This record gives sequence, structure tokens and C-alpha cells, in this order.
Amino acid sequence: MNAVTELAEKVIAGDRRALARAITLIESARSDHREDADRLLERLAASGRQALRVGLSGTPGVGKSTFIESLGTRLTGQGLRVAVLAVDPSSTRSGGSILGDKTRMERLSRDPNAFIRPSPSQTTLGGVARRTREAVAVCEAAGFDVVLIETVGVGQSETMVAGMSDVFVLLLAPAGGDELQGVKRGIMEIADLILVNKADGELLPAAMRTCADYAGALRLLRKRPEDPPGFPKALAVSALSETGLDAAWEAITGLAEWRRDAGVWAARRAAQARAWFEDEVRHALLQELASDPATRAEMTRLGAAVEAGTAAPRAAARALLETRRRR
Ligand code: GDP
Repeated sequence: MNAVTELAEKVIAGDRRALARAITLIESARSDHREDADRLLERLAASGRQALRVGLSGTPGVGKSTFIESLGTRLTGQGLRVAVLAVDPSSTRSGGSILGDKTRMERLSRDPNAFIRPSPSQTTLGGVARRTREAVAVCEAAGFDVVLIETVGVGQSETMVAGMSDVFVLLLAPAGGDELQGVKRGIMEIADLILVNKADGELLPAAMRTCADYAGALRLLRKRPEDPPGFPKALAVSALSETGLDAAWEAITGLAEWRRDAGVWAARRAAQARAWFEDEVRHALLQELASDPATRAEMTRLGAAVEAGTAAPRAAARALLETRRRR
């Protein structure tokens, strides 16, 4: 049996070390690794297993790791297997990772029914997106019931994570004043569930007020056809004192079940798979262009011309493709 087949079988059998190795393989930039990774993913896809993919976003300090630790431990306590994947846009710059720090999710990281994986360090957010999608697929094949995809709420990472989730959750902190906390409308529109965390102690009244404000704001948003009545929804939780977590999980699974029954789930996954494919095509085309030295030189030249204002971006792009075609 060759190494890839063996690795695939071990992943499917639930071997955690094989799972970690499989994800390391898909994150590798080496071209021979890439070929193995593609074969591995193909084999794993044959398992046909699916997990509930839950996206979770929130700014640093809002309580994401505390929430994942509390909810995750609760779920593993119910016999569910939970994988946590992180998408950290800042790690694309620093090469570091929000989960590199071992003290995060201490209980969950020791839990045999949980698997926690830090963000892949890649040079672009697009690279992180592609590798994370694949890591989700590996975790599904490994038999996890729930895959949590966590991201820090900055830039485009939220849209990207929402684009690979079945249900997307936004974690917020209680607002100090009576204004909504500058949450961009676009993020409100992709959130299925808003959880106002830290609804405990002195923060409880502010959390309840913030939750009511968001519930009101969500009602004003356009009704989405993929939602049952009452969604998108806002709930108050405390990750620290572990209150509201059952209601939050019920909302997540309730929505997922409704979407399954309504055919929305399958349609969403199909659309996501298509978007993934198109993303891969774009990436492969760019790579192909960049792999040819003459084209790369032309790209540099035209890029400089665009920067200098002597060429228009669109015309320069067409010129680049034209020279490539003639060769
Ligand atoms: P992250 O950066 O979003 O992962 O946030 P953390 O989970 O690291 O939490 C940031 C801080 O908020 C820590 O000091 C936590 O103890 C605190 N925190 C998290 N959840 C709660 C909560 O439900 N209530 C209160 N009062 N504090 C919380």
C-alpha cells in the first residue's frame, strides 16, 4: 500500500496523528507534497462523511476561545467529536498564529474527542482559505461531528469563513453606550446567529440591552429565503459562567436541521463547492502565468506602468494575456 493510501485509511479510522500529518501535508507548499495532498483529498472524499460546519467570528478579546472551550467541552461531553480550525489573517503577515499559544482552550486541547488546529501560515488570505477548506474536508473524513472554523473579525476573513460554513455565528461583547458597536452591515447580513457574550456579573444588563439592540437591527434586515422564522437571531451568552450555551447550540442545530429539510443546506454546499472550484481555477491560472519567466517579467513591467499611471489596469491585463497567448 502506498503512503498516501495508508494515510487516508488512518485518517478515516480516526487516528489523530495521521489527521495532524494529513493537514500538515495539505499545508505544504512543495509541489510533490501538493500532488500527494490532492490524491489524499480524493481518497478522503470517498468516505462521504459530513460534519456540521460552524463558522465563528469575533474581535480579539470578545471571548472566542473561552466560548469554544465551554461549548466544545459540552459537546464532547454529549459524545460529539469536535474539530476546531482557526483562520487568522494576521498570521499571513507574522507567520504566527492565534492558536500557537498553548494556553488557549486548555481543557479542549486535552480532550480526546476534540482536535484543535492553528491557522496555516500562508502568504495570502486566499492561500489560507484554500488550505482551510481542505482541512475541513480532512476533519469531515476523520469522522468529526462538528467542525468549528474560528476567525478574528477583521477584513475579509469573515466573508471567507462564512463561505465555508453551514451556519455562521458572530460573537460580540456588550456595548458600553447605547449605540451598536460599529458592526458593519455586511457582517450582520452574513451572520445567522449573533451571540452577545459576557452576559454575566456587572456586564449582564449591558449584554441584555446590546442583545435587544441587535435583535431589533436584525429584524430590519431583508428576510433571507434560506432562513426559518426567527432567524437571523440574537442571543445573550456567558462563555465564562457557561450560561445560554445550550440555547445557542439549539439555535445552531435547529437552523442547520431546518436548512437540511428545506434543501437549503445542499444548495449552499453546492454553491460553496462551485465557488471553491472557481477559486482554484483563478489560483491555478495565476500560478501558471507566474511560472513562466517571460510572462512574469511582462507582469512586472506592466505593473510598474500601471503604478506610474502610463497604462490602465484593464488594458494592461489584456495586454499581458495577449502576449502570453502569442507565445
Ligand atoms: P478571544 O480573544 O476572542 O479568544 O477572547 P478570550 O476567550 O481569550 O477572552 C478574552 C477575555 O474575556 C478573557 O479575559 C476572558 O476570561 C474574558 N471572557 C471570555 N468570556 C467571558 C464571559 O462570558 N464573561 C466574562 N465576564 N468574561 C469573559
